[in-house]
Amino acid sequence: MPGIYLAPHPQLTLESNWTPEARLGCLTPEAHHPYNAISTTLERPNGVPLDLKSTINLPKTAFPMKANLPQNEPKMLHRWEQLRLYESIRQAHKGERKYILHDGPPYANGPIHLGHALNKCLKDFVVKSKNMAGFDAPYIPGWDCHGLPIEIKVDQQLGGKKLQMKALDVRIECRKYAEKFLNLQREQFKRIGVLGRFERPYSTMTPEYESVVIATFYKFFEDGFVYKGLRPVYWCWHDRTALAEAEVEYETHTSPAIFVRYRMQSDARTIDLALADTHITKDKPVYTIIWTTTPWTLPASMAAAFHPHEEYVALEAADAIYIVAEKLAKSVAENCGFADAVAIAKFPGSAMEHTYFYHPFLPWERRKILGVLADYVTMDTGTGVVHTAPSHGAEDFVTGQRYKLDANCDVDAAGRIRNGLPEYDGLQIFQANEPIIELLKSHGALLHAEKLEHSYPHCWRCHNPVIFRATEQWFISMETAMPGGTFRSRALEDIKKVKWDPAWGEERISNMVETRPDWTISRQRVWGVPIAVFACDGCNQPLSDPSVNRKVVQLFAKSGADAWYTDQAEGLAAGAKCPNCGGAAFTREMDILDVWFESGCSYLVEIGKEPDYPWPSDLYLEGGDQYRGWFMSSLLCSIAAHGSAPYKGVVTPGWTLDEQGRALSKSRGTDVDPVDIANRLGGEIVRLWVASVDFREDVVGSEKLMQRTAETYRDIRNKLFRYVLSNLFDFDPAQDAVAFEQLRPVDQYILRQTSVLADDVVRWYDEFAFHKIYQRVTNFVIVELSAFYVDVVKDRLYTFAPKSAGRRAAQTALWRIGEALTRLLAPIMSFTSDEAWQYLPKLEGRPGSVHMAKFPTSAEILGGDSIAREDAQQKSDWTTLLSIRDQVLKPLEEARAKGEIGKSLEAQVKLTASDPLYAVLERHRDDLRYLFIVSQVSLERGSGNGSSSLQVEISRAAGEKCERCWNYSIRVGEDAKYPTVCERCAPVLHELDSEPGASKS
Ligand SMILES: [Zn+2]
Ligand SMILES: [Zn+2]
Ligand SMILES: [Zn+2]
Repeated sequence: MPGIYLAPHPQLTLESNWTPEARLGCLTPEAHHPYNAISTTLERPNGVPLDLKSTINLPKTAFPMKANLPQNEPKMLHRWEQLRLYESIRQAHKGERKYILHDGPPYANGPIHLGHALNKCLKDFVVKSKNMAGFDAPYIPGWDCHGLPIEIKVDQQLGGKKLQMKALDVRIECRKYAEKFLNLQREQFKRIGVLGRFERPYSTMTPEYESVVIATFYKFFEDGFVYKGLRPVYWCWHDRTALAEAEVEYETHTSPAIFVRYRMQSDARTIDLALADTHITKDKPVYTIIWTTTPWTLPASMAAAFHPHEEYVALEAADAIYIVAEKLAKSVAENCGFADAVAIAKFPGSAMEHTYFYHPFLPWERRKILGVLADYVTMDTGTGVVHTAPSHGAEDFVTGQRYKLDANCDVDAAGRIRNGLPEYDGLQIFQANEPIIELLKSHGALLHAEKLEHSYPHCWRCHNPVIFRATEQWFISMETAMPGGTFRSRALEDIKKVKWDPAWGEERISNMVETRPDWTISRQRVWGVPIAVFACDGCNQPLSDPSVNRKVVQLFAKSGADAWYTDQAEGLAAGAKCPNCGGAAFTREMDILDVWFESGCSYLVEIGKEPDYPWPSDLYLEGGDQYRGWFMSSLLCSIAAHGSAPYKGVVTPGWTLDEQGRALSKSRGTDVDPVDIANRLGGEIVRLWVASVDFREDVVGSEKLMQRTAETYRDIRNKLFRYVLSNLFDFDPAQDAVAFEQLRPVDQYILRQTSVLADDVVRWYDEFAFHKIYQRVTNFVIVELSAFYVDVVKDRLYTFAPKSAGRRAAQTALWRIGEALTRLLAPIMSFTSDEAWQYLPKLEGRPGSVHMAKFPTSAEILGGDSIAREDAQQKSDWTTLLSIRDQVLKPLEEARAKGEIGKSLEAQVKLTASDPLYAVLERHRDDLRYLFIVSQVSLERGSGNGSSSLQVEISRAAGEKCERCWNYSIRVGEDAKYPTVCERCAPVLHELDSEPGASKS
């Protein structure tokens, strides 16, 4: 059997004297020993028959083979709560170095999904392993509770009722909704074994949290970061409210589609000489043509946008020249009635930049239309020239900002046009379409009009078509001057001081900070922290008065942000004076803050709340979407409020995907619900799956993988925990443990291997390389422990006298392995490790839960002898012995295949070796038969010193088969009292005879 030691599937290479269950891989301790079949009863001189099986040290343990995780984990959770485990751990680690993983708050609007489970389990691995490595590592889970998704859900529940409700009452409904899901998620996170301060989490909707958010806003406000400015938003004129993108639905709508000509004011020579020549010599005016489906926006028209890289042509018609995109020229000419016009010039759109046009009906003194360039101009419909109204479109607004165009909005909240010509002034926008078309006709500007049915945004609530409307919003300026630079440059500097893992994170967030526009922090919603600022009734300027602001902070800390919506807030500006106009009457602003601003304050909230919460935290661990979200807002809030980044390190897991690399999906049937897995297979399986994946990459979650993980779980449970425990039933380490130097060499060997494993595992926890731990431990359990050590020591464990030095040595090794692995696995296999911990022999002063213990050191695993591991001769001896073992097992297997022997114990092995092999074998002469699991080994010194210095000969073992241990020996029959057993077993039986109450029949 070459390679039994390193075989990837050791179950398939097990000895043939193993039971069928063992071959199937379901290794029970009973299956590990081959003596179950013993049924012999010996006659004894005293007449009392002796049942041989009862003299074998059969393994036994109450640690169940079947885990029943779905039933038993909730009981374990209950036990932890009774122990007040989290608090006890904190107490035990008091005064140690702090390690802070600051939790990113999930949004409280639904049950948890697999991505949440991955996130929280990884955090739990980090926190638990840091505590076990000797840090004081608290974990304070948080929840993000404000914001639009919850408000929309509540709006849907309330229906039309919401319009009649006061803001405060809507907030109460939203709070109930968030509380419900916070509580649900809290139970779900606990169910998969996450340990933390769950009964006092942080939540963005508590008075304390809200007061820190508003205090942080005031810090920005008073330090001059904040300004108000215009921005276009979706607007429902019927409900008189701004709408978020998510609140808009597309429905079919019929609009007028019109072609309108704008006459050029600029000198045509600056564009193209041929065009200019025709224009001048034939006295034909030059126009461009725009196409629009919203005639009501024409009063707000500020520019005509051309694509910079598309070709435009000048078409000469009977009495005018028209500039349109070449690709659309034919259809425009046909629609507008000059199909036989001729192209007289061609030039790129970029030539039109900074030209001027007359507005089709507003006088030149009042409106100059600027030629501008924009990439979003398409060649699908229209003319390739886009009428631009910065107050009524998102793209128009951006273009308007670039060309410094007026974005003031002349449409009021109810959708009525203000400051217009008498023909349409005061009309509701859609009613203004017709008069405006008439106006275009009377000015000779309308070339063509038709009806168009198209998909158009509607209000999800009242189903009226919505409009874009520029409104005032609050911004934080990225260019604000700060000590040592600007807000932006300081953020960029601090990014470099953070350890980003994976390393690409640094470039990603740097690029975002470098290019991000000013931060829009206002929302026209209800469910959030209000931008609690008073505006002057006289001049509408926001009041920045620190003494007023402090009063608001105090009010929020006491009564929560809800207080802003009550008359408690009204009097707070009393006595203040507007620095701008001297006014003394003020009105509350009702916008709320962007929720990212709120969660960005989470670290500031914990400072001073959790005792000695240090600045900054050691770690933030969240998905890649948080570069734009929480990593960003936390960085910006902290730099402005605290002068530096809130984190020393940031770790980013990949996405959870299905086996085809797509997002998990309920409708496709590929969704994996972690709570469902916990209820069917166990929370431990979810945890073990998280440990099994390389989380820095995108990870795959599927039912199949969960089932496979459950198989690995069973291996670890039974081949490690249950096997170890079942052989310690009569072992009290305080009395029975054997010193390292008195262990058999193979016991020393396996403990050295365990101590190397422990060092690796502890280092990998530090590197968050959990998948390496998973692989290494699984390999150790299946290959080194189960397929090698367990195999080699079974004779000693089962057939030696219970208290013999040899058996106690093997038990000592198993006990130390059990102690070490239970602790090393505790952060990942939190339930099973603590279960096994209860069954391990209890030494004085041992904590009641493995989660309060520390990681084992090499010295502990080696019984205090940390130098033993470095024994160079032992190391090289074992390399040699394991290789010789392979060379012996191969011919043994061949002999068995040929039928020369049955079980390997029926064989004897003759080794002929020359130095240096001989010296090694000589040193371990007495252990060789156990290493090969044969009855006899003879060793001879070979003569040669050539390359093949080892010869292996297999033959049938000499002597008779011992009825008790099944080894063959020429000395079976020597003992008068027990003639059917060997010279090793007879003394054991005599010893048992001499014990009081020895008749174990
Ligand atoms: Zn509406
Ligand atoms: Zn004022
Ligand atoms: Zn025997």
